Amino acid sequence: MKNIFPLWQPAGNADSGRAGPWRWLVPVLLVLLFLAVLIWLPWQAREMESNERQEQLIADTLWVEQTLRFELARNEEALASLGADLVTKPPAPEALRARLAQMFKNGHELQRLVWLDANGRVLAARGAELPASGLSEASRSAALLARETHTSRYSEPYGATALTHGLLDYTLPLFRDGEYQGSLVATYSLKVLLDETVPWWFAQENALSLLDRDDRVVAQRSAGGPGRGVYTHKHALDLPGAAITLATDSVKGAPKLLPNLLVGSVIVLALGLLLSLAALWRHIARTLAAEGALRQQMAFRTAMENSLVTGLRARDLEGRVTYVNPAFCQMVGLPAEELVGKKPPMPYWAPEAMADYEQRFEKVLAGNITPQFETVFQRTDGVRVPVLVFEAPLVDSRGRQTGWMSSILDITDRKRVEELIRKQEEKLQESARLATMGEMSSMLAHELNQPLAAISSYTAGALNVLARAEELNEPVNARLLRRALEQARQQAQRAGQIIKSVHEFVKKREPERRPVAIGSVVDGVRALIELQARQAYVALRMQIPRELPPVLADRVMLEQVLLNLTRNGIEAMQDLAPERRVLRVEAEALDGQVSVSVIDSGHGIAPEVAERLFSPFFSTKAEGMGMGLSICRTAIEFHGGTLTHAANPGGGTIFTFTLPAQAQVQAA
Ligand code: ADP
Repeated sequence: MKNIFPLWQPAGNADSGRAGPWRWLVPVLLVLLFLAVLIWLPWQAREMESNERQEQLIADTLWVEQTLRFELARNEEALASLGADLVTKPPAPEALRARLAQMFKNGHELQRLVWLDANGRVLAARGAELPASGLSEASRSAALLARETHTSRYSEPYGATALTHGLLDYTLPLFRDGEYQGSLVATYSLKVLLDETVPWWFAQENALSLLDRDDRVVAQRSAGGPGRGVYTHKHALDLPGAAITLATDSVKGAPKLLPNLLVGSVIVLALGLLLSLAALWRHIARTLAAEGALRQQMAFRTAMENSLVTGLRARDLEGRVTYVNPAFCQMVGLPAEELVGKKPPMPYWAPEAMADYEQRFEKVLAGNITPQFETVFQRTDGVRVPVLVFEAPLVDSRGRQTGWMSSILDITDRKRVEELIRKQEEKLQESARLATMGEMSSMLAHELNQPLAAISSYTAGALNVLARAEELNEPVNARLLRRALEQARQQAQRAGQIIKSVHEFVKKREPERRPVAIGSVVDGVRALIELQARQAYVALRMQIPRELPPVLADRVMLEQVLLNLTRNGIEAMQDLAPERRVLRVEAEALDGQVSVSVIDSGHGIAPEVAERLFSPFFSTKAEGMGMGLSICRTAIEFHGGTLTHAANPGGGTIFTFTLPAQAQVQAA
């Protein structure tokens, strides 16, 4: 069956969402891992970039070294060829000069070229002037070694100071047929060598230096400024006899981390991720809190619904039952499953009230409900359950009406109590009537005594008539006898009447409402009222107009009210002088009401007495029961009327009861 109230579930599966703190562990670990990777990546990228730059520098340095070597090798070749020519067939001075000029032109690093004979004397020199001291020390020792080893050699670099760059000599020993003929000594400027051979772009990016054996700078070039010392490389120039190292130092610093786009985006991403995670976390926490509150509320509501003794029933706009609570199920003796989804006629409708239900249901469909009404449900075991139903529109969260909600009270107990009260009231009325009669018993005895005494004397008279006739042997005086018996019969009838009216008044009976004329009610108790009045020496004046409309009432109850009020009036005048004891009973019709007033001229009612006048068992009389007025008011209100009292302007009290005239009752 479809449950249209999914929220109204028992809070049983509340545990499903409770996986402990562990459910957070995996996502938190994943996020931390992700963040670690995000942070590690730029570092890695920076490392890679750094390595790449270093590798590039090494490659470039090797390339520069190759270029330097190549340049020097080219010069070596040119010198070797010149040397060979000088030993075998020395060229004409002109040709030699041209050849040398070409050599100096081809390699600007060549500063000087000196031709020495076997004794070390200068045969010819070109280029820079040879110092007076001759060749440098380094050059001389290199030349010596070259001569001994028969191979050309470079000297150690020399002549470098803070201001000047170093020089490098190259000695080519000349031999002819194994005999030493002299040497060619070429002097190179290391600075020019760097300037000429290293391309500008390389010099722009790197500071280059040539270092001697002791790592002293003998020449350097740095077009793009000093090196940063971050990317450096050293490589020895492979020159026979000379220990020269080419050192490169990049002008570039270490790659920066922050300006890096990757790093920027990583930081932004990480921050965004953290922020959205925090927002998500907060949202989840809030959702969980709301869910918890809802669950608690649901549990509370379920407990409340289950503990309710009031039945609850929801219906949709078509009258289909959508919800019932346990109290309702208990009331009609059916489980919720058999009720939810049902449309009228409902299984708990009692056959005798079917027309009533259908009529009310039609009104519900038409959209107008009776907010409160009494009806009867039939339980499955056939027992009728009187119920009080309250109905109200059922409105959803958007304010749209989706059906009707009814709360149903089982009023069996109330009905029972009402019935009990009614019965008790009846009993009370009855006992009150008996009490009234009890109070009137001596008076009744006296009243009955009279006809009985009269009967006795009439029958005695009759017997006398018979005896005289027998005695005198005369015929019976039938006329006399008949009169005596007639009188006796009349007296017997009167006594019977008194007994009958007492019996009528006292007998136990159900109240029954009939149209009655106030005049006839008064007539019914007139004899009893007169009796009391006569005994108390009270003058009785009755003014009951003939044309009064009837009232719908129980005659005996009204008689009792009259009897009580008149008795109270008579008793209130006990202490008055007999000529002032007047009791008036008056009736009139006014505004659809019939009112009857009992007016005495007695002692009146003091305020403290007035306050409690109608309370049961309140009496100021020694023998009083205090029930009279209480019963009178109940009886009058039972007929939809009122009982009031007021002070009599001429002294005494006026008690008035008012009842709706019958025409009014019918119209209502
Ligand atoms: P009971 O007559 O047994 O005392 P009631 O209920 O008839 O009980 O009256 C209650 C009290 O109201 C009386 O004891 C009396 O004090 C007062 N009372 C009733 N009727 C009158 C009246 N007509 N005038 C003055 N007092 C009255």
